Amino acid sequence: MAFTRATGKHRRPSRAVRVSANVAGIATLTATGVVAGFAAPALAASTDEVHHPEDTGLTQAVVIGEDTAGRIGEQAQVQSSSAAETTAVHDAETAAKQQAADVKKAADEAKRKAEAERKEAERVAREQERKRLNTFVSPIAGSYVSTSYKASSGLWSSGSHTGIDLHAETGTSVQAVGAGTVVEAGWGGAYGNNVVIKHNDGTYTQYGHLSSIEVSVGQSVTAGQQIGLSGATGNVTGPHLHFEARTGATYGTDIDPVAYLSEHGVNL
Ligand SMILES: [Zn+2]
Repeated sequence: MAFTRATGKHRRPSRAVRVSANVAGIATLTATGVVAGFAAPALAASTDEVHHPEDTGLTQAVVIGEDTAGRIGEQAQVQSSSAAETTAVHDAETAAKQQAADVKKAADEAKRKAEAERKEAERVAREQERKRLNTFVSPIAGSYVSTSYKASSGLWSSGSHTGIDLHAETGTSVQAVGAGTVVEAGWGGAYGNNVVIKHNDGTYTQYGHLSSIEVSVGQSVTAGQQIGLSGATGNVTGPHLHFEARTGATYGTDIDPVAYLSEHGVNL
């Protein structure tokens, strides 16, 4: 809005300055939208009746303006102080949020670490279990092959040795070569007292001529577990352990027991 003042009119300079100052002040405040409505009448009055300021609405407007300005000044101060408080509160909130975020981050990190450790422990346990299940041992600790696989002799119905004989005096501990389940435990004709174990990889092992059997069908055994004692039962000329490795549960599915044990890490 234009503020024009006619030239040549008498007017007290101080008044004019004061009015101008106040109008300017009000105009500034108007800009904030707080006292909209005051400025327009004041300016209208100042342009039309500036030579009679004491009788016009301008004075009132200015007086009201000053009064209002004072109140607005206080209000502005309150608002400013409030703004400072708001900023302080905002800063505190931001700091608190950051702190909470840091705490959460640390907690998440600890949780992630604990989870990783738990998984590693599980992995190690699985590895140990896998190793335990896949570990194989010799059926007679510290023994040696006295009659080899496929050896020919009139002693065997097939004419060929279906396993190996391991040197063992009667009463020597006979152990399962690997983990598995007992599928046969009892008299086996030419094999005498014998045990057959089905292993976890689907292969079978047989232990013959035992003097005693210490497991029963359906029983789970681990590698190295004693299943009986060696002896000279069945078709034998002397005490020893007859050991067979098989791809199936029955006679005739035999495979080279030395190679079988070797594949499982056992060298006789
Ligand atoms: Zn034999």
